[in-house]
Amino acid sequence: MLRALLAASLWMAAATPAVASEVANYLIRHVSVVDVASGTVTPDQSVAISGDRIGGVGPDKLMSMRFLGTRQIDATGKFVMPGLWDMHMHFGGGPELIEENKNLLPLYVAYGVTTVRDCAADISPSVLEWRAAVARGHLLGPRIFTSGPKLEGYKPLWKGTIEVGTPTEVNAALDRLKAMKVDFVKITDNTLKPDIFLYAVREAKRRGLKTSAHTPYALTIVQAADAGLSSVEHVDYLIKAGSPKEAEIGADYVAGKLTYGEASDAFVDTFDRSYAAGVYREMAKRHIAVTPTLNMGRILAYLDQEDHSKDPALAYIGPGLRKTYDWRVERAAMATPEQIAARHKEYELSKQVMPMLVAAGIPILAGTDAGYLNSFNYPGQGIHDELERYVEAGLTPQQALASATITGPAFLGYSDRYGAVEPGKATDLLILNANPLKDIRATRDIWSVVLKGKWLDRAALDRLLSDAKAKASH
Ligand SMILES: [Zn+2]
Repeated sequence: MLRALLAASLWMAAATPAVASEVANYLIRHVSVVDVASGTVTPDQSVAISGDRIGGVGPDKLMSMRFLGTRQIDATGKFVMPGLWDMHMHFGGGPELIEENKNLLPLYVAYGVTTVRDCAADISPSVLEWRAAVARGHLLGPRIFTSGPKLEGYKPLWKGTIEVGTPTEVNAALDRLKAMKVDFVKITDNTLKPDIFLYAVREAKRRGLKTSAHTPYALTIVQAADAGLSSVEHVDYLIKAGSPKEAEIGADYVAGKLTYGEASDAFVDTFDRSYAAGVYREMAKRHIAVTPTLNMGRILAYLDQEDHSKDPALAYIGPGLRKTYDWRVERAAMATPEQIAARHKEYELSKQVMPMLVAAGIPILAGTDAGYLNSFNYPGQGIHDELERYVEAGLTPQQALASATITGPAFLGYSDRYGAVEPGKATDLLILNANPLKDIRATRDIWSVVLKGKWLDRAALDRLLSDAKAKASH
């Protein structure tokens, strides 16, 4: 109905531009539009919200005539930008935590996260249901992209995976994932054999599926990129890629001469900046993206110094999910002083890697790793923490914002719908009290969120937060 009205009014506008007015649900007036791609701001604009698409953007004077009679919202002094994408999070923790996971959906929205990419866990059937329900408008939450269950080797540490050890099993797994209509394939390396890893990456690519992975230590990152891997998850793998001894250390690990931890430390100790820069350029040529999850690395590295027990965001996390945090905390508590020092060193090196990735032209996908297990890495708030870490590491606010608004849609093939405040793009928007290009912390200062055309003002967002708190308290 709305579409028909729009089409009719557009036709009329074309025929008699001086008198006809166009139809939109509402008009956001006098707002500064943040163009993330160019890093510029255009003041005193008006944005027409027409259902799930932007009906028009332009100088307020012209737009208010064009959309005469439309409900108006004065956004003087505010900044509008695309909603944030968290490109690496997890719904999971077992069937008894399904409700707690579901309760996180509105929490993401309250923090301005309008899209999430679920990177696999153990409650995929529910995630697929939520993806459909959100798309139909039956459930309030960010748009969900999901890998479904991930591919792993036999008997891995992780739950809810599809175990594969032969090409035939990989084929069957990919058939199953395709039937589930997953948005990409997640592969991890806990027990997966390197040749099967490479086969899975190549075969997924042949079937038109993107792959995101933890790469086996037996392979170099460039080998994985050559096979067609679409994205490397976690910045530690970029440290590995930046060691001239990457293959040698990997072989020692496979031969049992080094433990996983010792191999990780050896990659850090042998990292070489100029060698790394060359490898990153090779990766960029192969169009591989990186999801650094930098803040996760920082949280884990400094668990020895930081007490998170009073974090205000804990109030939004249900008791079952909070319990899953213990695993990492307990593991961290067992670390020796040498191991703690090595973790700090690795994090500081991760920070140095960030601007090198950007300089090489590798797309950065902002992702948190929030969900279960990953302690104190909070759904919603986490993406703001992640972007702040990027700027601390030397990225500009524009580069940080691009990683949470432009590269995600490009990775998943949705650049035509997302990534800018432009006519025809999705009405998933973040409206801020301050300019995020000047200070990245402005993304936390949310005035309103538009989700698929639905206007959520500060009071509505605060209600989502208090609901999330109430649900998490019992
Ligand atoms: Zn993860």
